[in-house]
Amino acid sequence: TVRFGIDKALESLGVKAVNEGTSTGANHFGSGDLIASYSPVDGQLIAQVKSTTKTDYEKVLETATSAFKTWRLMPAPQRGEIVRQFADKLREKKEALGKLVSYEMGKSYQEGLGEVQEMIDICDFAAGLSRQLHGLTMHSERPGHRMYEQYHPLGVVGIISAFNFPVAVWSWNTALAWVCGDVCVWKPSEKTPLCGIACQNIASEVFKANNLPEGISCLINGDYQVGEFMTKDTRVPLISATGSTRMGKIVAQEVAARLGKSLLELGGNNAIIVTPDADIKMTVIGAVFGAVGTAGQRCTSTRRLIIHESIYDQVKTALVDAYKQLRIGNPLDQTNHVGPLIDVEAVNLYKKALTAVVDEGGNLVVEGGVLSGEGYESGCYVKPAIAEAQPEFKIVQHETFAPVLYLLKYSGDVENAIDIQNNVAQGLSSAIMTNNLREAERFLSVAGSDCGIANVNIGTSGAEIGGAFGGEKETGGGRESGSDAWKVYMRRQTNTINYTTELPLAQGIKFDL
Ligand code: NAD
Repeated sequence: TVRFGIDKALESLGVKAVNEGTSTGANHFGSGDLIASYSPVDGQLIAQVKSTTKTDYEKVLETATSAFKTWRLMPAPQRGEIVRQFADKLREKKEALGKLVSYEMGKSYQEGLGEVQEMIDICDFAAGLSRQLHGLTMHSERPGHRMYEQYHPLGVVGIISAFNFPVAVWSWNTALAWVCGDVCVWKPSEKTPLCGIACQNIASEVFKANNLPEGISCLINGDYQVGEFMTKDTRVPLISATGSTRMGKIVAQEVAARLGKSLLELGGNNAIIVTPDADIKMTVIGAVFGAVGTAGQRCTSTRRLIIHESIYDQVKTALVDAYKQLRIGNPLDQTNHVGPLIDVEAVNLYKKALTAVVDEGGNLVVEGGVLSGEGYESGCYVKPAIAEAQPEFKIVQHETFAPVLYLLKYSGDVENAIDIQNNVAQGLSSAIMTNNLREAERFLSVAGSDCGIANVNIGTSGAEIGGAFGGEKETGGGRESGSDAWKVYMRRQTNTINYTTELPLAQGIKFDL
C-alpha cells in the first residue's frame, strides 16, 4: 500500500527493470545507453530503457515503411475496427496505465485516469471517423467529366511528445493517423519513457492478435538527438511535435528545410479574464484548478488572471483562501490536490520565476516555496504561488511550467482586458468569466481572443477531444484531435475523369493537331 500498487501496475503493463524490447522490428526499443526513469513522486528509480541508436532507428524505419504497404491497403473502416480493439485494451488497462502516468509523471491518479480516458475517447472518435474520411465532389467545367477529391494516407508519421501528457498526446495523433492509413513512429519524452513502453506493449498486442505487422506502431527512445533522426528524415512526411516553443522553432526549421509537413503543439500563456459580471465562485474553482492542476504543468494551465479593478480585491481574497486549503503530496493518494513537478530542474525554474517576479516589482500574495521532509524526499514538491504583477513584466510574458499564477488588474471596458490577454507571444487557450452577453460575444468576436481555444465561463484547461486542439502564434498553429484535424495526416488528391471521346482542355484552350 505504501507504493499504492504501482508494482502490480508495472507488471500488468509489461514494464520491466530494464526494457530492451525484442530483438526485431518496431519493438526493438534500442541498443544504446540506458535511460533511467526516476519517479518525481518518491525519487525512486522505476526502471530503465535502452535508447535508440542510429542503427536501431534505421531498422525501425524499415519495419514501419514495410508495414505501411500492408496497412494502407486495408479499408479504413477495418482499420477503425483495429483502433476500436485498441480502445478496448485500454479500458482493460486503464487503472494500471493511469497509475503509471501518475507515478512516472507526477500528476494525480485522477488525472492519470483522465488521460487514459482521453485515449479511449479519441479511439472511439477515430473508429467513427474511419467511415467519414470524406472528400468533396465538384462540378467540372468540361462536358462529360467528373471531378472529385480523395484523401490518401501520408506514410510514416513521426510523433514527438512532451512529458506532461505522456500517453494522451500520442493517442490523439496515432488513433487518427492509424485510421487514415498511416503508420507511426513515436519518440516519447525522455522524462517519461516507461509510459511509452506501456503504450507500445498494449498496441503491439492488438496488432499481433490481428496478424498485422508490428511496424504500424513503432517506438524509439532518447532525447532530442533521437528526435532529430526523424525531423531530418525525408521518409517521414509529417512530424507532429508537442513541447516547448524553443523545441518547436528548431523542429519547424529542420522539417521545413526538407519541405516536410509539421504539426506543432507548443507552449501557452493562458489567461482568464474576470469581468465585473463574473460568477466569482465559478471563477475561483476554474482559476484554482487551471493554475494548480497537474502542478501547473499543462500547456493549457492558467498562468494569468486579468481581473477588473472593481472586483479585484474580492477575487484575490477568495483565491488566497482557496490556496490555503490545497493539500500537496503523493499524487497517488487521492486526498491530495497537488503533486510534484517533473524534476529538480523544473523546481529551479519555478524558484527563478518567483525571484524574477519580485525583482520586476511584483508582490507575492501566496508565497510558494519548496517542500522538504517526510513524503517530499524527491525534492520536486512545491507550493503553488500567486503573484500580483504587471502584464508587461518579462516573467509574465514567459511560460513558466509550474504552479505560479499572476494577478493582473484592468480598468474600463472588456476591450482593455482582451488587449492584455492577446499581448503575449503565445496563443493557446483563453477564457472569460462573465454573465454579460455583450462581453462574452466581444471576447469571441473577430476583435476578441487571438487564441486557438476561447472559452466562456469555463477555465483555460481541460479541452474535450471532439474539438480541434491547438493554438496560434508561438504555440505553433497545429491542430490535433477532433473536428477535421485528421486532414493533416492525409494527402489530398484531386481527380478528374473524362468519360467522353473528346479531349476538351480546361479554360477553353484550343490545341488542334
Ligand atoms: P520539450 O520541448 O523539452 O520536449 C518535448 C519533446 O521534444 C521531447 O520528446 C524532447 O526530447 C523533444 N525535443 C526537444 N528538442 C528537440 C529537437 N531539437 N529535435 C527533436 N526533438 C526534440 O518540452 P517538455 O518540457 O517535455 O514539455 C513542456 C512543454 O510542452 C511546455 O512548453 C508545454 O506548454 C508544451 N506542451 C504543449 C502542448 C500543446 O498541445 N500545445 C501539450 C503539452 C505540452
